[in-house]
Amino acid sequence: MKHITIIGCGVVGAAIAYELSLCQGIQVTVVDQTAPAQGSTAAALGVGMAVISHKVKGRNWQLRERSLKRYQTLIPELEALTGREIQHNTHGILSLCFAAEELPRWRSLQAIRHKQGYELELWEPEQVGDRCPHLSTAGVVAGIYSSQDFQVNPTDLTLALVAGAQANGAEFHFGEPVVGFDESDLEASSQEGRRCGAVHTANQSFAADAIVISAGLGSLPLTQALYQPTDVGPVLGQALRLHLDEPLGNFDFQPVVNGNDIHLVPLGDGDYWVGATVEFPPDTGLDEALAIKPEAERLDEVLASAIAYCPALATGKITHRWSGLRPRPQGQAAPVIQSLTGYSNIWLATGHYRNGVLLAPATALAIRDLLEQLG
Ligand SMILES: Cc1cc2nc3c(=O)[nH]c(=O)nc-3n(C[C@H](O)[C@H](O)[C@H](O)COP(=O)(O)OP(=O)(O)OC[C@H]3O[C@@H](n4cnc5c(N)ncnc54)[C@H](O)[C@@H]3O)c2cc1C
Repeated sequence: MKHITIIGCGVVGAAIAYELSLCQGIQVTVVDQTAPAQGSTAAALGVGMAVISHKVKGRNWQLRERSLKRYQTLIPELEALTGREIQHNTHGILSLCFAAEELPRWRSLQAIRHKQGYELELWEPEQVGDRCPHLSTAGVVAGIYSSQDFQVNPTDLTLALVAGAQANGAEFHFGEPVVGFDESDLEASSQEGRRCGAVHTANQSFAADAIVISAGLGSLPLTQALYQPTDVGPVLGQALRLHLDEPLGNFDFQPVVNGNDIHLVPLGDGDYWVGATVEFPPDTGLDEALAIKPEAERLDEVLASAIAYCPALATGKITHRWSGLRPRPQGQAAPVIQSLTGYSNIWLATGHYRNGVLLAPATALAIRDLLEQLG
């Protein structure tokens, strides 16, 4: 039996725990300093832009596509295993295009996706108005509609992944910050790289054959403790929840709408999420960046942008405003899924920046593949 210890139980750590819990001969232990889904995951809108993203090849597209495919089985599988309901939207994503010069790029993407086996529809403004009467078509030159993209509630998903992994025998330890690693093994080095044999919290130690660091913004201090700092910094995002007395548009067609990079996410019963801001911290240092405070005006601007394409939102009542910090890798592409330099049994699954919910299932599969190579 191989013991795998996962540090961090946001959507990424929980997805890895669940996927590994399905493998024969692996005992999974997850350690988090808080309860599950409290970090960046708690703030996310869960929009999965795969087919409608402009990534068409290379690692980024492969991860998106792999996640898209795994999501088709993952949600029903988890709901059946755990009896938990996972709020998700399968009406697709509609992106509003306001600039005629962007149309050739969308047409080219449509052709590429068709060859890849996916369909993107390009709608005239009138079609946008017919299918989504709640949207203003003023300034809209086209609607790009992907029926194969989706949205999922990140907290529901993470809690279901935890419950599913637990049902398969994984162990979770919450409220336990990881404070160090097995020092004696850290000092020993060999040609294959160092091995780290245990993860320490203040109260206990977890012996490990392999360790996965999926700690989001906590990844930098953890990798510093391993003498291999992996720089992951915060990018603040704010969002809000609105309630309208009358649900918007056609009851039987409620896609996520994106206009000018602002999402409108239907939740049912007249509730909507609107977001998010993308706020880079001053280039000072991690402590200052982590202390960055959300500015209310930035979220007001986001709401104004959403109202511009969906005027009825102006009559809504804001029921909740929140913010979160996205983990963004510095000096390398997001996400970071690789072994920790110099170690033969430590893996990083972090820095998912704006797409952690979308990419969590593919990340989990990638980590599973890497561990299988380890033997
Ligand atoms: C406003 C907003 C909107 C977003 N919308 C979307 C979206 O629509 N679609 C999408 O795909 N993504 C979205 N994201 C991005 C997404 O939230 C992140 O990419 C994702 O949540 C990252 O997940 P994670 O598990 O890596 O990190 P986190 O959720 O931050 O989890 C990391 C965990 O590690 C734990 N940890 C850290 N250090 C330690 C330690 N020393 N010991 C023990 N535990 C530790 C933390 O407690 C935490 O639970 C959004 C983000 C924001 C802020």
